[in-house]
Amino acid sequence: MFEKEKAQMTKAGMKMDRYGLIALSGGNVSMRMPSGEILITPSGMIYEDMVPADVLVMDIDGNVIEGTRKTSSDTEGLLYIYKHREDINSVIHTHQPYATAVGLVEDEFEVNLTTLANACGGNVKVTPFSSAGSVDMGIDTVENLGDSLAVILANHGVMAVGENLKQALCAAVYLEEAAKTYLSAKAIGEPRKMTKEQVTQAVELFHFYGQGTPVIPKELVKRI
Ligand SMILES: [Zn+2]
Repeated sequence: MFEKEKAQMTKAGMKMDRYGLIALSGGNVSMRMPSGEILITPSGMIYEDMVPADVLVMDIDGNVIEGTRKTSSDTEGLLYIYKHREDINSVIHTHQPYATAVGLVEDEFEVNLTTLANACGGNVKVTPFSSAGSVDMGIDTVENLGDSLAVILANHGVMAVGENLKQALCAAVYLEEAAKTYLSAKAIGEPRKMTKEQVTQAVELFHFYGQGTPVIPKELVKRI
């Protein structure tokens, strides 16, 4: 069951590797199906070796419906997110180094790049420390997410979410790009900030980005 979605998830795992968001088997990819089942990548498997049949199907309480692999060690925390945020249908957990580095120093990654505003929808908060594999990872994510599409887990990594897999992956990838740029700037001075209006405009513009979407209304493209 859900063969197409499982294939999308293993492909997303490869992309996480390609974009430097994880090494070997770190992190995980999960999705919620419209019928309520949760699909989660297995524990400790290298993404390039993973095939769709390795992805587990479970109910919202963690009872495995299909799959023989050991479930991700973060399953409890992930299920907490799906239970408490019905608008979230995909979660990508990574150990991406640049965003995690920002979280080692700051309590919140303030939006200072249009790409970050586009992909994450606002500032990205840093959660308190929680142990890997604990339900606290999920609780901290829900408590700090707000309207954003990502949080940085203190001393650990990132939880990126979305209404679908593509949105969660974009949030993780662009967060990492922005963190890399921010840290590069920080090495030579204090990075310039965006105004609240500039952030709002960048978030709104993103709704018109990509194929098959309406043309950007002129009033949105203004000099603030
Ligand atoms: Zn982790």
